[in-house]
Amino acid sequence: MYLYNSLSHKKELFTPNSSDVVKMYTCGPTVYHFAHIGNLRTYIMEDVLEKALRYEGYPVKRVMNITDVGHLASDADTGEDKMLKGAKREHKSVMEIAKYYTDAFFADCDKLNIKRPDVVQPATGCIPEFINMVSGLLDKGFAYVAGGNVYFDTSKLEKYYVFNDHNEDDLAVGVREGVEEDPNKRNKNDFVLWFTKSKFEDQALKWDSPWGVGYPGWHIECSGISMKYLGEDLDIHCGGIDNAFPHHTNEIAQSESYLGHKWCNYWFHVHHLNTDTGKMSKSKGEFLTVSLLESKGYSPMAYRLFCLQSHYRRNLVFSWENLDNAQTAYDKLIARIAALQDDGTVDTAVFDKLKERFVGALNGDLNTSLAVTAVYDVLKEKTNDGTKLAALRDFDRVLSLNLLEAAQQLQEKQKQEAEASADPEIDALVARRTAAKKERNFAEADRIRDELKAMGVEIIDTPQGTKWRKA
Ligand code: AMP
Ligand code: ZN
Repeated sequence: MYLYNSLSHKKELFTPNSSDVVKMYTCGPTVYHFAHIGNLRTYIMEDVLEKALRYEGYPVKRVMNITDVGHLASDADTGEDKMLKGAKREHKSVMEIAKYYTDAFFADCDKLNIKRPDVVQPATGCIPEFINMVSGLLDKGFAYVAGGNVYFDTSKLEKYYVFNDHNEDDLAVGVREGVEEDPNKRNKNDFVLWFTKSKFEDQALKWDSPWGVGYPGWHIECSGISMKYLGEDLDIHCGGIDNAFPHHTNEIAQSESYLGHKWCNYWFHVHHLNTDTGKMSKSKGEFLTVSLLESKGYSPMAYRLFCLQSHYRRNLVFSWENLDNAQTAYDKLIARIAALQDDGTVDTAVFDKLKERFVGALNGDLNTSLAVTAVYDVLKEKTNDGTKLAALRDFDRVLSLNLLEAAQQLQEKQKQEAEASADPEIDALVARRTAAKKERNFAEADRIRDELKAMGVEIIDTPQGTKWRKA
């Protein structure tokens, strides 16, 4: 599989460190509010990546953190802890907020068929691991204590901006705009590993540490949790593109300084879902959630299809019109699959040819829109329905669009509707009319049609036979 690696800025043939398992780490949600559908775009595309790897025979171990402490209002370590902000907004404790929004996040993931990672670890459960890592960084001279906080010293690195060669000042401005500089920092890019002193004395969750009572920085949690469950090397690290700087840049800085060697080989970044007014953001207040889409009559599968129809490395613009199109496309797709009759036989040569196209799409840097086209190719293929259904079932292991389940539900609904409207008297009249037509007794056929009309029944002649409906 070829994947674009943000670290090398190139598509590379994916080769895991070991054939035993692909080690995959995902930055999890900050659970101070519902996930918006932009966040969920990232998790959908990461889910497809994980499933594509498994589909192609790689065993995968995937770990995700839950950010329930330390993510401040600005990614540049200033402002209030987002969790505390959420707790104040809802007059609840930080832990209550964390539990509520963690459950809500996984409920959304279930609706969108996003598989739960093998390990899900809230940051508050790994404080000793973070303290250990911060101590190691201090021992190795990569960190310093100033004003009560522990900072990572970026001047000790040969290269800090690993993902981009942009002008450092330009990059920093995006994060720091409108934010007070921290006078404790020796270098402008230094970041907090452990807070004991912050402007916000009412930080709810605090733990004892060698540097005083405090709490971890946001970046250290992903390095600490990844190392706890996946060891000293990682194959793939995932996240939204906004995480590349400063979060992932800082994760690499501290992890590689701590370990003394390269940490992660592939960086997979999903680009943003935007609205026509710009980036979708939880802190902007009003934002789109899965529940909101459902309340407007859209199915979560239509949103998943909408995401799959575009490449993960392109920004995707959300509009209701685009979602309408995805919903229509999904409904039509399911109706076409529902019309297939499983004859139980599979033409393996045709199946393999269809699968080759699908795998080719995945292997070309996870080209999901081409993978969706491969689904339509199956429907267009001149082969028996059993082969088509087998291919669709197989592809849906990766796409997770409920293709066969939704088609079966539709078939059942259609059957129930037919049964509910069944009427033996009308059926008998329609059959007599058909027989009359066959005998070329058109006068009798017309008389029966008029009789039915008088009963409020309309006749529809179709290539598949005569149907009727109550007018
Ligand atoms: P957060 O809950 O804010 O920590 O973000 C969870 C994930 O969503 C991270 O991987 C972010 O990079 C990603 N993300 C944030 N905003 C967007 C967006 N508008 N579109 C896609 N992904 C996003
Ligand atoms: Zn992270």
